[in-house]
Amino acid sequence: MTSLRVGAATDVGRRRHNNEDSMLVADRLFVVADGMGGHVGGEVASQIAVAAMGEAFTAGGTVDDLVAAVRTANQAILARADADPSLRNMGTTATATALVDSAEGEVLAVAHVGDSRAYLFRDGHLSQITDDHSVPQELLRAGQLTEAEAAVDPRRNQITRVLGLGDPDPDLQTVVPYVGDRLLLCSDGLTNEVSDAIIAEVLATVADAQEAADRLVAMANDNGGGDNITVILVDVVDDDERAERASESLAAMGGLDREAPHRLLSADERNARLRDLARDDRTDDPWTDAPATAGAAGTVRSLEPSEVDVPARRITARVVVFVLALALVLGGAAAAVGWYARGAYFVGVDRGRVTIFQGRPGGLLWFDPTVAERTDIAESQLRPADVPDLERGKEEPSLGAARDYVRLLRERVAGGDVGASGAGDRGSPEATTTTAAS
Ligand code: MN
Repeated sequence: MTSLRVGAATDVGRRRHNNEDSMLVADRLFVVADGMGGHVGGEVASQIAVAAMGEAFTAGGTVDDLVAAVRTANQAILARADADPSLRNMGTTATATALVDSAEGEVLAVAHVGDSRAYLFRDGHLSQITDDHSVPQELLRAGQLTEAEAAVDPRRNQITRVLGLGDPDPDLQTVVPYVGDRLLLCSDGLTNEVSDAIIAEVLATVADAQEAADRLVAMANDNGGGDNITVILVDVVDDDERAERASESLAAMGGLDREAPHRLLSADERNARLRDLARDDRTDDPWTDAPATAGAAGTVRSLEPSEVDVPARRITARVVVFVLALALVLGGAAAAVGWYARGAYFVGVDRGRVTIFQGRPGGLLWFDPTVAERTDIAESQLRPADVPDLERGKEEPSLGAARDYVRLLRERVAGGDVGASGAGDRGSPEATTTTAAS
């Protein structure tokens, strides 16, 4: 069973009078919502969103259930805005993660609409895993703005997708949880004030999830607190030994640190380990002096540095251990590169069709991507906005995630292509509205 530890904090900030952010910390569901619109609209919208999602999503849910919960929240906001004209333009972002059951076991699904964010902190590295649905970021992805232009674009606050306006169309992805992973959900009140590098430093140094969440909020306030700030930090504290299983083969090769089984050694650590192994040989010339004895071979049974340090039967044993260790470390590194190169999937285009590849876009060293699955979606059917992503290769952490993305593309194709059926789909909410009005 995957188990999580969670820290969460929300704060009005230094400039605003009320907190329009809302958050939900439930058993297996975590949501950050940043409301907007009107006088009290923002507050109401974000509160409705988290309440509706909390009710709609129950334990044992799947990725689809999470998406359904997002849509339910959207309907709830629309219904409320319909009933109260003063709330007509309200909306909210929603970045939600849920521990869901999938074919790959329990995974963290992330559904996202708007410009709140989810980050994954893994192995000391922070990566933003959601795209901001804001005007400059959409233009950046379409290749019409540079990163530098997007960063200072005044339209940063114009959100292109929200709950409470038409079809929310959430982005969706899954993260296979490993012990030590930290998933951060936050509103833009944090990311406008605190850089990714500083966030990473806090996550690397503050072990307690609640303490880390409080620290991030305090930093945003110290830097100005221009907006409401909300932070949820989800720590994976038990992954059902997934990490250990995944790394067994690598650990056997000596390429892994045994204390953190899924963590690869850094270059410095590898060098330090090699230096330890080589230390006592420095004054000898290991390549010429070889009085091999049968006894020496007995020493070569372990690669533990402590054993190598035993001063008896010097040269030969040490030379053999050193060379073996070097070979194993290099072998481990090669295996690790292969594991990294082949450990991901991406969605691209091959022979005019959307195709799932295993590997990294463009390949890595001698590992070329291979076709994992072909689909019947033609490139010409795609929304223009999706094409650049696919031409670059849309990276996904797993085959399941790649399939989810393809499914999303397929929905978009179906939605955009057939106007009549699209309108028909939207008929059911209308029916609901009619019932409510009568
Ligand atoms: Mn905000």
